[in-house]
Amino acid sequence: MFMTKNLLRNLFSKKATRMYPHVQRPDFEGFRGELHNNIEKCIFCKACALKCPSQCIKVDSKEGIWELDVMACVYCSICVETCPVKCLSMKAAFRKPFIGRQIQTLHGTPKAKKAAKDDAAAAEDGGSAPE
Ligand code: SF4
Ligand code: SF4
Repeated sequence: MFMTKNLLRNLFSKKATRMYPHVQRPDFEGFRGELHNNIEKCIFCKACALKCPSQCIKVDSKEGIWELDVMACVYCSICVETCPVKCLSMKAAFRKPFIGRQIQTLHGTPKAKKAAKDDAAAAEDGGSAPE
C-alpha cells in the first residue's frame, strides 16, 4: 500500500531531475562552473597545481604552459582561491559533456620572459621619451 502511494505520488509530481544538457539549471550566486584562466596574467607559479585535490592541473613554468584535465576537475574552486594574481575564475557556465579525456592547454609568457619583456618595453619608453 505504501509503495503504491509512493509510486502514484512520484508519477504525478514534478520531476526532481533535469534532462541535462537539454535542460539546464539557471545559474545562482556562488555558482561554480567552467574553470577559466586569463593566461596573460598567469605567472606560472604552480600554486594551483599543488593545491588541486584531484591533481588535474599541470604547469610548465619554463615553457609557460598551463594544462587542465577538464573532466577530472571537481569544481571545488581551491585553485581560484589560491592563485596569487587572481587569473583563475569559475564561469557561470556548465562544462559540455564529452566522451573521453579532454586536456585544455594554454600557452602564456613565463615569468622570466615576462620580466625581460617589461624591461625591454621600459628601456624603449625611456629611449623614445621627448627631451
Ligand atoms: S576547481 Fe578544484 S578540482 Fe578543479 S582545477 Fe581547481 S582545484 Fe582542481
Ligand atoms: S596559481 Fe595562478 S598564477 Fe600560479 S600557475 Fe596557477 S593560474 Fe598561474
